[in-house]
Amino acid sequence: MARIVVLGGSFGGLTAAFELRRMLGKRAEVTVLCDDDKFVFVPSLPWVSMGSRKASDITLPLKPILERKGITFIHETAKGVDADASRVVSASGEVPYDYLVIATGPYLAFEEVPGLGPEKGHTECIFTLDQAERTSRTWNKFLENPGPIVTGSVQGVSCFGPPYEYAFEIDTELRKRRIRHKVPIVFVTSEPFIGHFGIGGLRNSKLMMENEFAERDIRIITNAVVEEITSGELKLKEGTKIPFKLSMFAPAMKGVPAVAHLGNPRGFIPVDGNYRHKKYRNIFAVGVAVAIAPPEQTPVPTGVPKTGYMTVKMAKAASTSIAADITGSTPPEGVPIDVVCLMDMGNTAAIMKAAPVLPPRQESDLKVGARYKWLKIAFERYYLWKIKNGLSALP
Ligand SMILES: Cc1cc2nc3c(=O)[nH]c(=O)nc-3n(C[C@H](O)[C@H](O)[C@H](O)COP(=O)(O)OP(=O)(O)OC[C@H]3O[C@@H](n4cnc5c(N)ncnc54)[C@H](O)[C@@H]3O)c2cc1C
Repeated sequence: MARIVVLGGSFGGLTAAFELRRMLGKRAEVTVLCDDDKFVFVPSLPWVSMGSRKASDITLPLKPILERKGITFIHETAKGVDADASRVVSASGEVPYDYLVIATGPYLAFEEVPGLGPEKGHTECIFTLDQAERTSRTWNKFLENPGPIVTGSVQGVSCFGPPYEYAFEIDTELRKRRIRHKVPIVFVTSEPFIGHFGIGGLRNSKLMMENEFAERDIRIITNAVVEEITSGELKLKEGTKIPFKLSMFAPAMKGVPAVAHLGNPRGFIPVDGNYRHKKYRNIFAVGVAVAIAPPEQTPVPTGVPKTGYMTVKMAKAASTSIAADITGSTPPEGVPIDVVCLMDMGNTAAIMKAAPVLPPRQESDLKVGARYKWLKIAFERYYLWKIKNGLSALP
């Protein structure tokens, strides 16, 4: 029986584990090793930071879900991977594998900008559950005595969506409370233009987003390099200083330390069209862990986002290839990944589509409308239901 180990219990890891179990049944022993004992629906973290979701609304315990499916769950942190010996190294020992799926997501590189981040710096973040809960507490305190806000993405960021959501959500909430006039908002981003999103923009995204920020009276600074953040002040490399009472910034990402040695200089794993490691052929990587070259060199470095939808598709493709290997069938040709993403905008929402994700594209669009807000809420419920029942979310 083939031993398959999956690192990570989120979008990529769970999809791969469920799919491998479904396709291979008793032909494989599937193990998920994860440092978190719960699944977190990450796209709802901005709502946690605004107080409209609690942790219990968007998390599910991994052990019962996996064990019901006949998948072994090990709640541990992978410390490393010995790719030559085909073993994962954890604190309590070694886990051997015939196939490994890496779905460990990002390491958040706050240390790359002095003063960035909630732990050692002066900015909030909403990329993990703990951070989003902390941002929610900071927000409640801020509301008692509001002042200027600066938010956005520093140099090297690849996950641009959440700061957009955050800017639109705080704008909506401040207007609801009729205190928007007390809060100047500046949106600082390393993107070359607003609506670029790290993928060269979508058909009309620049115009739509410029218009949206103007309507909401949010000042935009693009091509920004953040030099330093001190208590209450953000300094850009060109000298501009922006005072703030509250700041939320996306950090650049790297591969997590346990697998970084298998990746490029930033620790992201190089894969072929079937998400198979280019050198170690029994290792696959999916989701944020994967290396994707940007579509263009931007004046300030930016990366390509790897969204939940893309991650699920990658995990399905990788699982299909592993199953084909094990059953001796021909693996499918690698297909370019497309993306569909729903972005909350507080009082409304947007749907973004790009097929394939990097230009030139067959299809590319951004539409704004209240119905996409309902779709986003419905998708959250649908995805959590799917995970709870051990099913992967996309056909
Ligand atoms: C705030 C925010 C909002 C987002 N909104 C959207 C959205 O609206 N739509 C969308 O499509 N995408 C969205 N995304 C992107 C989406 O969340 C990611 O694409 C998705 O989470 C990637 O899944 P993943 O499995 O690759 O990594 P992750 O979700 O980051 O999961 C990594 C997993 O690996 C585990 N892990 C890490 N290191 C180790 C280790 N050493 N040992 C064991 N386990 C480890 C972690 O605990 C976790 O379970 C958003 C991202 C953020 C941060």
